[in-house]
Amino acid sequence: MVGSFGDLSMVAQCPYCAANIRRGWVSGAESSVVRAVVYSQYGELPQVRDVADPVCPDDGVIVSVRATGVCRSDWHAWRGHDPVTLPHVPGHEFAGVIAEIGSTDGNFRVGERVTAPFVQGCGRCEYCLTGNAQVCPQQRQPGFTDQGSFAERVVVNRADVNLVRLPDVVGFVAASVLGCRFATAFRALTVHGRISRGQWLAVYGCGGVGLSAVMIGVALGARVIAIDAHPTAVAIAHELGAERTLPGAAEVDLLVREITDGGAHVTVDAVGSPATAAAAVRSLRRRGRHVQVGLLLGAQAMAALPMDRVIAQELEIYGSHGMAAADYPPLLDLIASGVLHPAKLVGSVIGLDRAGEALAAMDSSTASGMTVIEI
Ligand SMILES: [Zn+2]
Ligand SMILES: [Zn+2]
Repeated sequence: MVGSFGDLSMVAQCPYCAANIRRGWVSGAESSVVRAVVYSQYGELPQVRDVADPVCPDDGVIVSVRATGVCRSDWHAWRGHDPVTLPHVPGHEFAGVIAEIGSTDGNFRVGERVTAPFVQGCGRCEYCLTGNAQVCPQQRQPGFTDQGSFAERVVVNRADVNLVRLPDVVGFVAASVLGCRFATAFRALTVHGRISRGQWLAVYGCGGVGLSAVMIGVALGARVIAIDAHPTAVAIAHELGAERTLPGAAEVDLLVREITDGGAHVTVDAVGSPATAAAAVRSLRRRGRHVQVGLLLGAQAMAALPMDRVIAQELEIYGSHGMAAADYPPLLDLIASGVLHPAKLVGSVIGLDRAGEALAAMDSSTASGMTVIEI
């Protein structure tokens, strides 16, 4: 039984598999199938179906997915804010076991526990060669440019550049959020924010990536202010060590500047809205650093920032777009040594059959930590 696609011999003729063949995921009618979460229209409730098994690239691997996070970026794609080719399998942060290895990769072996950043670099361009695969112009992204990880198996391209071995002590559920939210927050604070002990960090939004920033900020010795309109969300942030919590009311930036005696050293907008981005910039002290992590798409991409303040106070504004695989070891060391606990941010663990409703639930703001799908 091949779900809605009928007989196996018909796999290559269905619209989904035809799209797969165009993208090189399957080689033809002889391909087998895997269970995956699929939507054919933006906003349509995704369903679990059998889809064509992805084909292992010569320079890549196939990962048997054990856990995969439900991220707001998946919701943006599903809602059509970030267009994808339909039908589509979402999912871009995952952990699992290597199931298959391409003919040219020699660094990994079947059975190894791994994760991968959601941006998979080409390994050849000037950005990849200088350690910045997260902005590779030829990048591939599972769940956006390619079939995603809400599936039994997912491709990691150019494995020698993009695959990350997991320490044994880091479980699959904890590791599943390293591909996007937790690693993005880590890089936002350490590379862009350059946060140091005793400095003030204001985090706008306490969803998955915001709570990640709170946890990492606290672990790095920052004094954290967590801002979110939802009382449960800021309660979680407080439990994670946020010194102050604030509702996301108007003029909250004034409160932040008051509490911090002049403004935060670092701000993160983990919401992704014109209002929170501008408020976060207004919350900075002189020479402070703002990191935009929450996505601003479509018309929101033109959000206005207070550039008078940026100039007069020499503020720094950064975007953060994940983290290259080569930069994962220090983060994994902090997790393996118990300094960071990404598993604590996971509010619920569900099966693949509930992934569609979890994605749809993001229509309203969630306040219960991250949702992870176990497969
Ligand atoms: Zn994400
Ligand atoms: Zn590249």
